[in-house]
Formats: sequence, structure tokens, C-alpha cells
Amino acid sequence: MDSTVAKFQALRLQRFYLAQLNYAITYVVIGAAWMVGQYNASGVMAASHVMLGVTLQAIIFGMFKSGLNLRFKDPSLTSLQIVIAMLLLTYLLAFSGEFRGSLIMVYPIILMFGVFQLSRRAFLTHAGLALVLYGVLILFNVTQQRSNETLSVHLLEWFVLACFTGWLSFFCSYIRELRARLQRRHNVLQTHQTTLRGMMGQLQSLADTDSLTGLANRRYFINEAQRRITLLGPGHKVGIALIDLDNFKSINDVHGHAAGDKVLEGFAEIARKSLRDEDLVARFGGEEFVILLDNSDLATLHQCVERIRTGFAQTCFSTTGEKLHCTLSAGLNLVGFDENLEDRLKQADEALYRAKETGRNRCEVFEGAYA
Ligand code: GH3
Ligand code: MG
Ligand code: MG
Repeated sequence: MDSTVAKFQALRLQRFYLAQLNYAITYVVIGAAWMVGQYNASGVMAASHVMLGVTLQAIIFGMFKSGLNLRFKDPSLTSLQIVIAMLLLTYLLAFSGEFRGSLIMVYPIILMFGVFQLSRRAFLTHAGLALVLYGVLILFNVTQQRSNETLSVHLLEWFVLACFTGWLSFFCSYIRELRARLQRRHNVLQTHQTTLRGMMGQLQSLADTDSLTGLANRRYFINEAQRRITLLGPGHKVGIALIDLDNFKSINDVHGHAAGDKVLEGFAEIARKSLRDEDLVARFGGEEFVILLDNSDLATLHQCVERIRTGFAQTCFSTTGEKLHCTLSAGLNLVGFDENLEDRLKQADEALYRAKETGRNRCEVFEGAYA
């Protein structure tokens, strides 16, 4: 069952239990009336009422529990429950003698359950049913001469019931309208919240991304690398490679800034294709990049960066008819759990400097990393 459906089913059951409490209170009141001799039903009549009540409630409970109620237009079965409760109450009142007048207020209480679901029209229909049932009861009592009360007292009781159920119909539909208005406001707020969350996500991704290459930026890399290092187990390491494009200034000078941009984008493409999804590549600034390989060793790191280096060197970037090639140099290092990322990046930079010094287009490993 879908979680929203389950949430609503739980709410419907809660209302059903509330209704059961109402039944229980009515039975307690009837019990008290019976003890003081104000309730005329025989034991058989009382037992038949309890049996009927329990059976009908068990059927409704079963419908909620099995999900059968979901097949109905109104899965809360509000109307059905109200009609059953009114019929049971009328059956109870048939034997309540003079005491009946005090019990007619149970009709409006039953009607109140409609506040959750019924439209004003449906509410008035149910209020009308209460009046019809009570009217039939009066007719039955008068014609069968089962009551000592005069017709005027009966009619007065009916009138009282009509006034209060009528007022209740308007009051409850007013509350229902308020509830609907609050729900609409809540829905609007929720839509705004979803939009804001989406915009926050977009802003976050803008703040983490380099606009030219689409790679992560330095800020994101440092945070993410730091997070991954703290998650490392003892003995595990991540591999880092600082990469700097060779003689990049001259590419700009000779072929123009746009050509330089194209080379930067080309590098990003090659790096992305050469790495696994879980690896991290970021533009560190200018024509410098950085790579992080999860759970790595020097051999794997070296192999991976070499693959990128050769791939990049073999790529021909053509801009406005001219063909241009570019190479890169890299400094490699490892970072273990509990080690300082900044220090390890500085060491990778030293290795990168050595790669530049010794002719460029090569990878150098920080010597301390072999230890
Ligand atoms: P080396 O091999 O020693 O690294 O030499 P280099 O020319 O690559 O290094 P240098 O630091 O002298 O030059 C880097 C150049 O990168 C200078 C700068 O104009 C250029 N650059 C930085 N960011 C961008 C960019 O976003 N687009 C373009 N087209 N060029 C950029
Ligand atoms: Mg540089
Ligand atoms: Mg450079």
C-alpha cells in the first residue's frame, strides 16, 4: 500500500475508533437508565441491539482493515457509518420511554462525524434522515400507545431536534469550508516549498560547478575529498593527481582565448570518460585540474593518469581550420585516513613541479608516497 493511502487509512480508522467511543458512552448511559428503571427493553431486545451493533461495526472495521473501503467513492464510509448509527440509535430510543427526550441529542452528535467529509447538501440530507427516523418513532409510539407523553411533547422534542440539527448542518459545513481553505493554503505553501527546494538544488549545483567545463570546482573538491578521507578505514588510501596543462599560455597567445577554452573543455571531456563514476575530477583553477580516485594505490593511480595524459596528448583540437595539440603534466600522491589533505596536495604540487622541470608531458609521483 502506498504511504499516502496508508496514512489516510490510519486516519479513517482513528475516526472509526472515535465513533466506537460514542457507542460505548451511549451504552453506558442506557445501562444507567436501565438500572434506575427508565429503560423498558427486555433482555432479549437489549441483547439483539448489542449483537446488531457489534456485527455492523465489525463489518465496517473489516472493510477498513481489508482495504475494501477503498473501492467506494468515499473511502471514509462516513455516510454509511452515520446512517447505521442513526438506525441503531432509533432502535434504542424505541424502548427508552420518558428517558427518550434526553437521548435525542445523540442524533446531532452522530451527525458531527460528517464534519470531516460531508458537503452542506449531504449534511442536510443526513440531518433530514434523523428527523424522519425520529418522526417515524413518534408515530409508532403514538399509534401503538406505547408512551404516556402527549403528542405536543413529542412534537416539541421533534422541533428541538429539527432546530439543532439544522443549526449543526450550517456550523459543520462552515468548519468544513475553513478546513478546505486551510488545506488549499497548505497545498500552495507546499508547492512553493518544492519550488524553493528545486531552486536551492540548482543554486547549490551552480555554486559547486565550474561554468566552462561543467566539472566540480575547487571548493566542492576540497569539501568532498575531505569527506571521503574521513570515511576511509585504516590502511585505505585515496589517490590524488594535480594536473596542469603544458604551455597553455602560448595556446592562448597563438590560437586565441576561445581556442584555449576549447582545449580546457576537451580535457574535461577526456578526464570524465577515463574515470569511473565514483572518482572525482575538478577544475582547480585556470588550466589546473585535480583528480581523486577512491580506495586506490600508486600503481592504479599512475595507470589512470597516464591513460588521461596519453589520451589528451593524442587529441587534435581544431579551431578555425588550425589543428592544435596540447599536453599535460601531473603530480601524484596518496592520502591515507587521518592525513592532512592540504599537505598531501602541496606534495603533489612538488611532484608536478618536477614533471614540468624534467620536460613536461609526464606524470611524477611524490617520492614520500612510496614509503
Ligand atoms: P606551464 O607549462 O609551465 O604550466 O605553462 P603555462 O603557459 O601553462 O602556464 P602559465 O601559468 O604561464 O599560464 C597559464 C595560462 O592559462 C594563463 C591564463 O591566461 C590561462 N588561462 C587561465 N584560465 C583560463 C581560461 O579559463 N581560459 C583560457 N583560454 N585561458 C585560461
Ligand atoms: Mg598553471
Ligand atoms: Mg600550465
